[in-house]
Amino acid sequence: MNISNIDKQKYLSKIVVGTNEECWNWRGNLDIDGYGVITLSNNKSYKAHRICYILSNNKIPTHKLKHSCKNRKCCNPKHIYVNDVPTRFWSKVDIKKENDCWNYIGDKKDATCNLFVSGNGKLVSAYRMAYILVNGIIKSDITIIHSCGNILCCNPKHLFIENNENRFWFKVDKRGEDECWIWKGSSDRYGKVSFNGDIIPSHRVSYILAYGDIKDGLEVCHKCDNGLCVNPKHLFLGTHKENMEDMVRKGRSMMCSFPNNKFALKRR
Ligand SMILES: [Zn+2]
Ligand SMILES: [Zn+2]
Ligand SMILES: [Zn+2]
Repeated sequence: MNISNIDKQKYLSKIVVGTNEECWNWRGNLDIDGYGVITLSNNKSYKAHRICYILSNNKIPTHKLKHSCKNRKCCNPKHIYVNDVPTRFWSKVDIKKENDCWNYIGDKKDATCNLFVSGNGKLVSAYRMAYILVNGIIKSDITIIHSCGNILCCNPKHLFIENNENRFWFKVDKRGEDECWIWKGSSDRYGKVSFNGDIIPSHRVSYILAYGDIKDGLEVCHKCDNGLCVNPKHLFLGTHKENMEDMVRKGRSMMCSFPNNKFALKRR
């Protein structure tokens, strides 16, 4: 539907333009339901807020239009939305830069309570809804966790399925591909992590997550000399003997989880 300039001028002459927050009330005729109506030069009449949507979005709405302000006379494009689930949902999220938190700005308790209906008819919280809209339906026994720890956040980049691996990486300051990635959880000489019920050096867990199980008797060593580093690229396997020899050869440039380290006693 093309709206001519003349029709556009006619439309604009009948609204009271205000700020983003204010309602821009229609001053022309209203229909029996209280919506603004306008007759365009093709002699057909249209709802004013529909013309508003088409002019500001340059497209025909795919679903029924709704007013977030509940004021049927309003023609502020910021108050008019397409009434489908994703649009309705995202209109209540404060979408910021790619890596920032996007807080849910609707009723605060909706963010964490089960108030949205997902595609499978289940009631879900706001951040779960965000995850589903981006990644598709998930089983109801799967828990979604925030990497940012902000329960109001709906940025899909901060939302993860809860599992050992994700819980592990949330405690790592991941940097550039070749830089050291520092373990932020509990540590002494090495990071410590509770993994499947055992306490294991965190670099060892990182190695297992990246490359799979470690054969009995092998140690995980650092190329970077940084005991708290868990960048898999900085880790390699060796026997204790090899490590000691390597260390001597390279003048202590190696750090390994030696068997006399209490956390290295867990060999798996
Ligand atoms: Zn309004
Ligand atoms: Zn966040
Ligand atoms: Zn490193």
